[in-house]
Amino acid sequence: MQNPYLSLDQQMVGDIYTSREVMDNLTVLCDDFGARFSGTPEERQAAEFICDRFQHYGLRGARLESYPYAGWSRGEAKLKISSPVDRSIPCISLPYCPAASVKAELISIGFGAPDDFERLSSQIEGKIVLASSASSPDLGRWVHRKEKYERSVLAGAKAFIFVSEHPGVGPETGSLQNDQPAPIAGISICKEDGAFLERMMTRKGTVQLYLETTDINTSRTSWNVVADLPGIGNPEEQIVLGCHYDGHDISQGAHDPASGMVLVIEAARVLARYAKTALKRTIRFVAFGTEEIGLTGAFQYVEAHQEELDHLRFMYNLDAAGGGSRKGTVLHQWKNLEPYFQNAYLEMATDLPVGQKLHSYSDHFPFFLAGVPSGHMGDPGAGPGGRGFGHTRYDTLDKVELSNLRAGSSVAARMALRLAADLSFRPPRRSAESIRELVETDPGLEGYRVAQKLARQLTA
Ligand SMILES: [Zn+2]
Repeated sequence: MQNPYLSLDQQMVGDIYTSREVMDNLTVLCDDFGARFSGTPEERQAAEFICDRFQHYGLRGARLESYPYAGWSRGEAKLKISSPVDRSIPCISLPYCPAASVKAELISIGFGAPDDFERLSSQIEGKIVLASSASSPDLGRWVHRKEKYERSVLAGAKAFIFVSEHPGVGPETGSLQNDQPAPIAGISICKEDGAFLERMMTRKGTVQLYLETTDINTSRTSWNVVADLPGIGNPEEQIVLGCHYDGHDISQGAHDPASGMVLVIEAARVLARYAKTALKRTIRFVAFGTEEIGLTGAFQYVEAHQEELDHLRFMYNLDAAGGGSRKGTVLHQWKNLEPYFQNAYLEMATDLPVGQKLHSYSDHFPFFLAGVPSGHMGDPGAGPGGRGFGHTRYDTLDKVELSNLRAGSSVAARMALRLAADLSFRPPRRSAESIRELVETDPGLEGYRVAQKLARQLTA
């Protein structure tokens, strides 16, 4: 197949594969700024570093766009078995956990699938729910932590304990709510302690727990970092290439999200260097803030840039895309765009897959709700696996490979070039009616429907 962008592709890919810049940038993000968790000085320093990179590579209008959000600071958490034995169990609070002290009986919900909650619905009220981070193999979809937490709240639980499904990685973190304090306490423990509690219930019957959390919920300010490579002739026409830069406080967040963040930065570097004059519409590069605690940066971006959305042709989310997974495209239920992406991969002489899947747990989601065409880099054929070392303190720089960063940034730059150079690619926004239909029926949005149900109950 003929490749009209062959010479630009060769220049960009050749540069990426003969430079270590992408790994150097990842090293600064992880080793100099650590977790970049919302509300820390390192979060601000990371935002300024990314802004400086954008400027240095020749992008226009590089800036921090600030917004308010519900902040959260970790306090010490204590978990004790008070009966039938006296034993302390190491634990951590999950973001948006309130300060609380709870004394109650433990109940296990297993995988925390909808069926599990239905089966045990009459027994959850007033108890502390123990849920694995694993998804039931029978269900065929990944069940996010928030969905398990929210179903527990809806069933009247007093507190929530999240158990990592992976041995040897300690507790797995992740927020309980989006941009607001959580209604009941939620903590996390390691797989091994979860198994101990399960055995205790099997062998001794009733297990009584005492849980104390001391977290602080306060309002704060964060920042999206925004910069442009302007299109020639149609600068108001846009595509967005984005990833969040904040990680979780217990981790370097090297894979999630920083490996994806540096793909955005590397794509900016080579596109600015070689492809500037080929762009017919603007490529906007966005480093989103506070994704890990509720996609707040992306929601705020969509809110603040309303008037541009009719001209925003595609939002490409690179969240955590620099790991080992394939660099294909997962479209968010845009069947009509599949041939375009398949053709682009053929033209690039790659064998990358294109497919459809939707979920509400990363920065593309506010764009989806606004009807903007979107997709993310990844493997549409990947099953509903767990996070591995993700969201634990072991998501560290040493696990990210330069070859994966190069593969991801090459594909991101080449795809962005095509989306911005080809004016025949102009999908319209989705209508409010078809957005609503997907929100009500898409299997990938089951967790979002549970979140809405709880939100309605909390405001009632
Ligand atoms: Zn992420």
